[in-house]
Amino acid sequence: MYNSLSEVQSDLAGNKITCVELTKAYIARINENRHLNAFLEVFENTALEKAKEVDGKLKSKTAGKLAGMVIAIKDNICYKGHKVSASSKILEGFESLFSATVVERLLAEDAVIIGRCNCDEFAMGSSNENSAMGKVLNPLDIKRVPGGSSGGSAAVVAADLCLAALGTDTGGSIRQPASFCGVVGLKPTYARVSRHGAIAYASSFDQIGPITRSVEDAALIMEVIAGKDNYDSTASSRPVPAYSKKLETKKKYKIAYLKDCIESPGLDKEIKARITSIINTLKENGHTVEAADFPYLDYLVPTYYVLTTAEASSNLARYSGVTYGYRSPNIADSAGNASLETVYKKSRSEGFGAEVKRRIMLGTFVLSSGYYDAYYSKAQKVRHLLKDKTNEILAGYDFIILPATPGTAFEFGQKSDDPIAMYLEDIFTVQANITGLPAISLPLGKHSNGMPFGIQLIAKDFAEEDLLAFSDHLVKTC
Ligand code: GLN
Repeated sequence: MYNSLSEVQSDLAGNKITCVELTKAYIARINENRHLNAFLEVFENTALEKAKEVDGKLKSKTAGKLAGMVIAIKDNICYKGHKVSASSKILEGFESLFSATVVERLLAEDAVIIGRCNCDEFAMGSSNENSAMGKVLNPLDIKRVPGGSSGGSAAVVAADLCLAALGTDTGGSIRQPASFCGVVGLKPTYARVSRHGAIAYASSFDQIGPITRSVEDAALIMEVIAGKDNYDSTASSRPVPAYSKKLETKKKYKIAYLKDCIESPGLDKEIKARITSIINTLKENGHTVEAADFPYLDYLVPTYYVLTTAEASSNLARYSGVTYGYRSPNIADSAGNASLETVYKKSRSEGFGAEVKRRIMLGTFVLSSGYYDAYYSKAQKVRHLLKDKTNEILAGYDFIILPATPGTAFEFGQKSDDPIAMYLEDIFTVQANITGLPAISLPLGKHSNGMPFGIQLIAKDFAEEDLLAFSDHLVKTC
């Protein structure tokens, strides 16, 4: 229906539509597209209540800057009084006791939160096939995956079921589904956006960010959700620029591309050709684009999986069957006695899905006393090395340009039996999470198989202002 909030707001201002009508229109579209399985729940009552309030505020000219933005949240972001499950059986029926800071901030600026989106269980996955609530279909081709783990969030934006969505990105979970669904996905700098109220997967990697149809909307959402937060001591207190007002840029930028990425044998030929043509256009437009060496491509995915599984095994220890969510009804042992240990064991065995269990076991292994130095400590050192090398490149350039994904959205089942093939999907996205740098996937590619693909930019720490401005320029000129 709309491609940006400015289009919505001009119709609201011209009395062509009210916020309630708009919200109802999206709900009707959601109902027509139930087969996608992208929404786990529509918050119909609270969304319409909020829309009514927004209409009142528009009349009295007191509405916030996101008035008219109908937005969905990934099912790992808490919204007080609403269910949240991380698409896991272990949290089935759990209701948030407080709202995530990002949710509070969206509501304070009068966004309408329309519902929660399906995702891979605890945000672990690249295809949405790991959700305990069933897979999400890619709205552009229902035989294909929407990507993951924020697959539902990308699918609802691509299918026009709402204007925008929030996702989380630990290793690519915003950018990869954005690439597969043909929308914009931004992972902010680590610590730019508060993680308070986001269900933790790997805390030193996780970030919340926007999935949108335009760069402009990504900028607007960022200026609302970013910034200091007393509930998250890792959230940076650096001031938040008015990103959406700074999109115009005439600067000539210096951009690096990584030869090893572009020459990578796993990269689809058409994606490679598109990146090359964008590089040429950028040069013609007066930007400097040069090759840079990054000889550590092969270390990215292993480092990511050692460290994130370690953090996950610790973060997920709290789902014990005692405090929240699912508790196994079968807690008696063979002698008919129930012990605390059987409560833990049975609840976790029955509540978690196969991929989550695999990662908890991997993480527990790499942290175990005999293997800690060989895996966990080693991976921490490699993380430093990867950070230093990437920052060294960015000392001489504004951005690194690279593919978002090695290919386009694949078909269901194609990689689900092969965890290594699935993990290699993340090869181009994890660099930004390992280093904490901001990165965006822009819908600049169209494959001959009919599917879209994203082109990715990585920027310097906290350089979202430049990143968004250049992204806007890129989608308008390439
Ligand atoms: N695909 C990656 C994984 O499975 C990314 C997940 C994420 O960013 N949450 O871990």
